[in-house]
Amino acid sequence: MADDRPRILTGTRPTGPQHIGHFAGALQQWIALQHEFESFWLIADYQVSDFAEDIDLVRESVFETALDWLAVGLDPDQGHYVIESLVPEHAELTIWLSWFIGLGRLQRNPTLKAEMADVEAKMESVPVAFFTYPVMQVANILMPKAHAVPVGEDQLPHIEMTREVARRFNRKFGEVFPVPKGIVGDVPRLVGLDGDAKMSKSLGNTIDLRDDAETVMLKVRSMFTDPTRLRATDPGHVEGNPVFMYHDAFNPDEAEVEDLKERYLKGAVGDVEVKEKLARALNTLLDPIRERRSYYQARPDEVKQVLAAGSEHARMVAQATMGEVREALQLDYLK
Ligand code: ATP
Ligand code: MG
Repeated sequence: MADDRPRILTGTRPTGPQHIGHFAGALQQWIALQHEFESFWLIADYQVSDFAEDIDLVRESVFETALDWLAVGLDPDQGHYVIESLVPEHAELTIWLSWFIGLGRLQRNPTLKAEMADVEAKMESVPVAFFTYPVMQVANILMPKAHAVPVGEDQLPHIEMTREVARRFNRKFGEVFPVPKGIVGDVPRLVGLDGDAKMSKSLGNTIDLRDDAETVMLKVRSMFTDPTRLRATDPGHVEGNPVFMYHDAFNPDEAEVEDLKERYLKGAVGDVEVKEKLARALNTLLDPIRERRSYYQARPDEVKQVLAAGSEHARMVAQATMGEVREALQLDYLK
């Protein structure tokens, strides 16, 4: 069926469950945009940095990610669930495009700089794949000729590189790729439970979409709040306080949030009440997600079918793009 909507490409790495940071920073937008755009939702298994060490986690996470996405309401009739390595054209395009990005340019990317520090601390030596994965991200976006990429703020430097590569390629070889733009939502970067600047799987400071109500309650109770406040009667800080940031992001009852903030500033409410109300709001948000998740969990064949159909469609699109790329590069040696 012809689909003439503009395209979106976006995705995640299958290295664990999706968390409320993904939800607030990415998934919510993907859901909102899925009718207007033809969406390619990518599970980027080529880009897992500890592939060699944790293949079981990767395998399990591909399926779990699909479950999380179905549960939040990414509709497989509206967009495509794509497993990256089932479209090996991604690897080919990565090779061609790696000629269009300088190593110095990669090393100035602030997100990569931060990740590099992590990788260096964790691994004996930095895998070559660490330098190719950002190029592959560029290839992922350009492959379906995406117009837009909805992401959290940390991904913007990658999108900037994508725009540069698209322009450079087009200038030299003719207009093949649209120059895509990043779309960042209302919560560009959700802080972690521990107050760290970013909720992240690798930091273990997450509330996962699949967590049950009890787990959410316990995690919220353990959250970092205002360290300067010793008693419930001390005036507290709302600004920069992760508990209130979560209230802003996830509690739809604005009057309740305003009331809690006012009392917190005056020292007229304890952390316990603020946290209990947050846990309640989160569980209200997560309940229908949990319900849809268990529906699909009981139907693994349906989930696999969604992944198979989406990946097959993406492969068709990829082959068409690669045809154009080869033509543009004039790789017609045998003609
Ligand atoms: P993590 O960052 O938890 O280790 P990841 O790096 O595997 O997960 P990505 O693939 O980087 O996940 O993220 C998928 C999408 O979710 C990206 O668009 C990213 O910007 C967004 N995202 C991830 N964490 C957050 C967060 N804490 N706040 C806002 N957006 C986020
Ligand atoms: Mg990340």
